[in-house]
Order: sequence, then structure tokens, then C-alpha cells
Amino acid sequence: MAETQPQSRFNLCAGHPALDFVNSLDNRFRAAGPIELLTDYGALLSFMRAVGLLDQREARRLADGASAAAAVRGLRSARALREALAAVFYAHAAGRTPAPAVLGALARHFHAASRHRELRWAPGAAKGQRRSGAHWDRTRFGLRAELPVWLLSQAAEQLLLSQQLSQVRACAADNCRWLFLDTSRNHTRRWCQMQVCGNRMKARRFQARR
Ligand SMILES: [Zn+2]
Repeated sequence: MAETQPQSRFNLCAGHPALDFVNSLDNRFRAAGPIELLTDYGALLSFMRAVGLLDQREARRLADGASAAAAVRGLRSARALREALAAVFYAHAAGRTPAPAVLGALARHFHAASRHRELRWAPGAAKGQRRSGAHWDRTRFGLRAELPVWLLSQAAEQLLLSQQLSQVRACAADNCRWLFLDTSRNHTRRWCQMQVCGNRMKARRFQARR
């Protein structure tokens, strides 16, 4: 299980922020309906803090600076991104090709994210203090309520276009189905967390045998 911040209400066990993000709609496939963990814009900011995509200062600036209307739009956009990602990742995990409409929606998010960043050079690069001198900077957009959406889009794009995509799995527990990155040596991880879903399913099977 990944390290989580003590104040976090989110269980970050996916191994990648884009997958933890998809898991923020809990019990996604439950007959009784899912549980929304991103209940408001503040919850989205808490999530961004928990996965390390925003620091405390950046999150507070957005919490204080975004108008109510902008916060509502930002949250709506974040949920739309999340559901497009869910459609793609669950299709992929099931061996299906994602629908073109979903890919189109994702592409729009990725394009918006790339329009709101600037390429900067870290001065320390020449002295070998950083691995690379170039990085994407979004300081100029630090007060825009969509900033979390752009950061999540960038993280998701990196995963989607990388070799790591082949490691994306859905938890084998029917009532969970959380996504995670299977980095186990033999690629045999079945559960989001063994101590939660793994043990519960084992107990159920044991019951069924008796
Ligand atoms: Zn699970």
C-alpha cells in the first residue's frame, strides 16, 4: 500500500495519481449506486494534496481565490475527465478498445492541459542539480479553478501513452473494482489491497466451500 498523508480521506493504493483519481468514485459498479468522494471543490483540492500534485500553498490559493461559480465548473470538469479516464482504463483492463467519443473527450482535456503551461528552465541544471533543466510550469495559471484538471490530465496522459499502461488492472473483488498499477514481479496482483479485498474474497470462498 502506498504512503498516504495522515490527513487524507482518500485511500491511495493505486500506485498512480490518475488511477487513484478514477477510484475517487467509490463502488463504481455497485447496483445500489457509487459513492462520490469528490463531493465538492474542496474535496478535489484535498485529493490533489494527498496525491502530491498540489502543495499546501497552491491548494490554499485555489481555495481562497476561485469564485464559487469557477469552483463548480472546475469540479464538473474534473469529474468529466475522471469518467472519460474510467471508460478508457476499464475498457483496456477488459481487453476492449475504448469508444472513439471517449478518446475524443480525453484528447480535449489533454489539449487544454497543454495550452495552460509554459516551458521553463531551471538554473541549477547546468551544475547537475537536476536531472533535466526543462520542466512544465503552471505558475501563471495558479489561480485558475481548472488547474487541478490540467495537472490530472497531464499525469493521465503520461500513463496512457507509456508502457505502464499494460500494468493497469482492476481489483478482482466485484464490489470494489478499483484500478491499480500491477508492479509485482510476476504481474499476478489481483487486489487493490490484499488486507481489504483479498482477505474478504478469501473468507467468502472459504464460507462457500463449507
Ligand atoms: Zn479492491
